[in-house]
Amino acid sequence: PQTRQWQDLGRDHHLPPFTDYKQLNEKGPRIITRASGVHLWDSEGNRILDGMAGLWCVNVGYGREELAEAAARQMRELPYYNLFFQTAHPPALELAKAIAELAPEGMNHVFFTGSGSEANDTVLRMVRHYWAVKGKPSKKVVIGRWNAYHGSTVAGASLGGMKGLHGQGDLPIPGIEHIDQPYWFGEGGDLDPDEFGTRVAEQLESKILDLGEENVAAFIAEPVQGAGGVIVPPETYWPKIREILDKYDILFAADEVICGFGRTGEWFGSQHYGLKPDLMSIAKGLTSGYVPMGGVVVRDEVVEVLNQGGEFYHGFTYSGHPVAAAVALENIRILREEGIVERVKSETAPYLQHRWRQLAEHPLVGETRGVGMVAALELVKNKHSRERFPAEQAVGMRCREFCFDNGLVMRAVGDTMIIAPPLVIDPVEIDELIAKAHKCLDLTASAVLG
Ligand code: PLP
Repeated sequence: PQTRQWQDLGRDHHLPPFTDYKQLNEKGPRIITRASGVHLWDSEGNRILDGMAGLWCVNVGYGREELAEAAARQMRELPYYNLFFQTAHPPALELAKAIAELAPEGMNHVFFTGSGSEANDTVLRMVRHYWAVKGKPSKKVVIGRWNAYHGSTVAGASLGGMKGLHGQGDLPIPGIEHIDQPYWFGEGGDLDPDEFGTRVAEQLESKILDLGEENVAAFIAEPVQGAGGVIVPPETYWPKIREILDKYDILFAADEVICGFGRTGEWFGSQHYGLKPDLMSIAKGLTSGYVPMGGVVVRDEVVEVLNQGGEFYHGFTYSGHPVAAAVALENIRILREEGIVERVKSETAPYLQHRWRQLAEHPLVGETRGVGMVAALELVKNKHSRERFPAEQAVGMRCREFCFDNGLVMRAVGDTMIIAPPLVIDPVEIDELIAKAHKCLDLTASAVLG
């Protein structure tokens, strides 16, 4: 009975993010009321395995008392103070050190933000400021990738390459350009993955030459693109990108908002691929989503230049918020002391990926792929020709609905189905996830293939 009342509140008063309001008013939202470990409960008492860790963020799982305690302790001690104008507080300082210890070598400073979007806004402003201080103010353009998601603020949505977001609000803003993503299954044609990886990476060089290297500040990309469909790059991709960035003296910003804090089986996706970022955006798994927080981790050489640049006129009321910082510190302690990232790498991710690959045998599945605790599969009409369903059939959305109705959260990006469960998922829960996914593929197949 309460479900209806909450749904009415939603219709009468709430404008939720990334939602079609007309559809929402026809069929109210599902109401999630509590969670524990890797499971959610809705207002009807259904137990649902959260195959997406919320929005790729609840890395240590739900219901961690230690995080609640850390927040309560900090609220009693110092609930708020800012980091502006040469003031600081212990949680932010200790957290910056903890992050520096985990980050790739030579990245020892952190600028805190309230979210991943704000982190990427910070990247844009910081790289332009960097080049201006270095006496090359024309180096302003940032190159991102089509179909990437870097957030919903004006800069975040512009750096991202999602046409839907660009279409609303006259984006991208000037000074942002895009190249293709290394999406072999969708766009590789007859090329083998390695050849395709090299070709797509070479687009970066063509773009730099078109724009003039004296105008290009940075390239931004996720080590593994998440919301764009879990695009795992071919092995040739990153080495080629690195070569081009070095050749033209372009900064590299790795968006680690999803990949960071263990998702790939390393602390950062950049470590998984041996990348050498100049800046890394972080958020989500930094606090396991328990409270909002983001940041940009910055390479020492960049900091040395910023040190010469006078005041950096940038920051947020909630930059390094003490309660968020205390939760992040406790979250990192849990990840470290329980050896969660190591366990992902050596045990649970290999098992998850092995079981996930078995879904490739399903008649509806054209490809399975993944790394660490993130994976995707492609729904296709014909396995052998890779023919896709017409978009109007909304097969991915239907599959997602079957999943939810059968106790599993999976995400649909078009007809690509995605999972990114909490990193603490155990083998029994992985079996539950795969069994439910299999059942929902069967239900989808009978609905769309007849
Ligand atoms: N960057 C990436 C790669 C993301 O996946 C997201 C969120 O999904 C963001 C940035 C934006 O983060 P936030 O939603 O915290 O602003």
